[in-house]
Amino acid sequence: MVTSIQGAYGFQLNAPNSPLQPCELPVLDPGPDEVVVQVAGCGVCHTDAGFAFDGVPTRHSLPLILGHEISGRVVAAGEKASSWLGRSVIVPAVIPCGLCPACRAGRDTICRRQFMPGNDGDGGFASHVLVPSRGLCAVPELLPSGLTLEMLSVIADAVTTPYEAIRRSGLGQEDVAVIVGAGGVGGFGVQIAAALGAAVVAIDVDQQRLDLASRHGAGLVLDASSTDLKGLKAAVRTFSKESAHKGIGLKIFEMSGTPAGQTTAFGLLDHGAYLGVVGFTPKAVELRLSNLMAFDATARGNWGCPPDQYPAALRLVLEGKVALAPFIEFHALEEAPAILEAVAKHSLRRRVILQPNHSKGKH
Ligand SMILES: [Zn+2]
Ligand SMILES: [Zn+2]
Repeated sequence: MVTSIQGAYGFQLNAPNSPLQPCELPVLDPGPDEVVVQVAGCGVCHTDAGFAFDGVPTRHSLPLILGHEISGRVVAAGEKASSWLGRSVIVPAVIPCGLCPACRAGRDTICRRQFMPGNDGDGGFASHVLVPSRGLCAVPELLPSGLTLEMLSVIADAVTTPYEAIRRSGLGQEDVAVIVGAGGVGGFGVQIAAALGAAVVAIDVDQQRLDLASRHGAGLVLDASSTDLKGLKAAVRTFSKESAHKGIGLKIFEMSGTPAGQTTAFGLLDHGAYLGVVGFTPKAVELRLSNLMAFDATARGNWGCPPDQYPAALRLVLEGKVALAPFIEFHALEEAPAILEAVAKHSLRRRVILQPNHSKGKH
């Protein structure tokens, strides 16, 4: 039985507003309930850019290896986690403790003892990562053609976080879903909403993203760079009427993580509307909060997704209801510093997956 891993390497953040630096990891020696995952792929999230460049503090002190969208293979395991050895897994972005009052109340995403890779400890911008075995999502060894283990890394946040937001809204076949921001997260949000049978509107400021959304489930796409809020509202209203979806109130999901997107999403509230907030920005926006009262509307956020929902989200991907390939691009792990800066500048259209090259051997 493999008990520890030597020679692992990664890219760490040493201080805010500085480029990621290559580093060697100490010997990774899993505790009884822990595993070491050989990283197949790690998605790069705006939250990572927030830690590096926007003054968002990581819960674990720096230096720290970022990255919380991890898939890979378990190559070492503690004695209580030995059944995972050799298996392909997705590591949840938020791993709750399972024991505290929040976890016991079924609110495990707000567990104060949760472990988030790349925030509470070293993450996945690395060849290997040490994580709790709790909540790991098993991946079938034989994947449908066109899917690879490294592609599935984005399920750990970019797919499951919108999945959980949409699940909480109770979205169904009667509903009209409006996805604000059709980028790295929203592109999956559009597909998940369409898979649940809703009529879907996608709003973005990038025509290429909108074209992609319309090929993957959006019945209406609207360019917010050329249409003001009044125009967006009118177009959504007409679409809702013509779609014959009779759900009460729009189900709106803010997935852009920009002040403009948040303002638009809130501005689209109608009677009985539901607003799910998934996108992250540290910037503040000015809103007339009383609109929630006037419209008898609901606004809700979610911090990631409970691990027990991962298998259902993975199934949507395995069944081909949520396509990954058009929404992702691969880069070598060594490109991590430049990629993170590009993500911070919103200059990438697709979700980046960093891939360590395990065939190169130990560094
Ligand atoms: Zn994230
Ligand atoms: Zn807990």
